[in-house]
Amino acid sequence: MNNKLIQFVRDTYQTNDFIPLHAPTFSGNEKAYVTDTIESTFVSSVGKYVEDFEKHIEAYTGTAKAVAAVNGTAALHTALYMAGVKAGDLVITQALTFVATCNALFHMGAEPIFVDVSKISLGLCSQATSDFLDDNAVVNNEGECIHKTSGRRIKAVVPMHTFGHPVELDELLTVCLKWNLVLVEDAAESLGSFYKGKHTGTIGDFSAISFNGNKIITTGGGGMVLCKHLDDGVHTRHVTTTAKVPHPYEFYHDEPGFNYRLPNLNAALGCAQMEVLPEFLEQKRLLAGKYQTLFSDSEFQFVVEPKYAQSNYWLNAIICPDKVSRDLLLKETNEQGVMTRPIWQLMHRLPMFKNSFRGDLKVSEWVEAHLINLPSSPIKVV
Ligand SMILES: *Cc1c(COP(=O)(O)O)cnc(C)c1O
Repeated sequence: MNNKLIQFVRDTYQTNDFIPLHAPTFSGNEKAYVTDTIESTFVSSVGKYVEDFEKHIEAYTGTAKAVAAVNGTAALHTALYMAGVKAGDLVITQALTFVATCNALFHMGAEPIFVDVSKISLGLCSQATSDFLDDNAVVNNEGECIHKTSGRRIKAVVPMHTFGHPVELDELLTVCLKWNLVLVEDAAESLGSFYKGKHTGTIGDFSAISFNGNKIITTGGGGMVLCKHLDDGVHTRHVTTTAKVPHPYEFYHDEPGFNYRLPNLNAALGCAQMEVLPEFLEQKRLLAGKYQTLFSDSEFQFVVEPKYAQSNYWLNAIICPDKVSRDLLLKETNEQGVMTRPIWQLMHRLPMFKNSFRGDLKVSEWVEAHLINLPSSPIKVV
């Protein structure tokens, strides 16, 4: 199978050079728009492309307000801040995620509680979340959700749509309403992924998208906060731009703010990339289908979108029968210049999160030991 896979990837990308996991493609108006920002001198946080990019994302996702940020981690930090997460709070999330999810929490003085993922979505499991709260939490007289053994407040639930596969959002929202928790989606990987027809990141009150170089579209570095409610969106925009009160020349700031606004230079790239997003999605779905066929008669199981969802198939993934075959596949493909990668090590194994509270993580541990990501760049039309 390993050689068959290497041959398939080489045939698909039609090259004998190194094949990365996910590379950006600039085949549209990227150069023209970026050049335009330089010629206009508006390369920084003021300029028409930033607002245009936000409008693009609003129209595409259907969110009430999109607020551009310098990267996905900053967008997530802003989303958690707007959700009311404060120092000392606990936040439920998955141990099977990229470290940025937890870094954003850490730097707010909050701490994660790790709950298991679903075998179907690879993202936060609604049943495990509900069970964890039943066993470990109470709602106090003020309506706050309190973690029983520590006495600390649990403020939010942060599911992450792993590799673009949407989690069970309706069920998670029900759990959040019952326990008075804010749903904040880490939609960093899921631009172009829909849950029961709704774009990911539009079900929670706040969410964050990333436009890092390896994501489905890129702005070099960049992110976006999605706000479900317009008034929250207006406030989010305010805090990401130093909370400056508009005035022709006076500097007055009415609350602590961030300097997180995406530069116009980067937003120009984003506007051009949004124009080709539908094409990328089509190409990635085609590629996922080909991988699925390739692995159909093998002992490897190709990860498909959950039935309730349409995934962007950001990173294709397979589940290996055991760790030995996983390690062999990683070794042979990488030696031959076809990049494959194991999934992230679970967050509770990292020194800064090893003492964080956690539930049973059986599925997360199983995925960690068996999953491999495969080259997933949109196939260039030849
Ligand atoms: C990429 C990513 C982020 C952070 O995005 P940056 O733009 O790199 O800061 C956050 N969470 C997840 C799950 C990601 O994959």
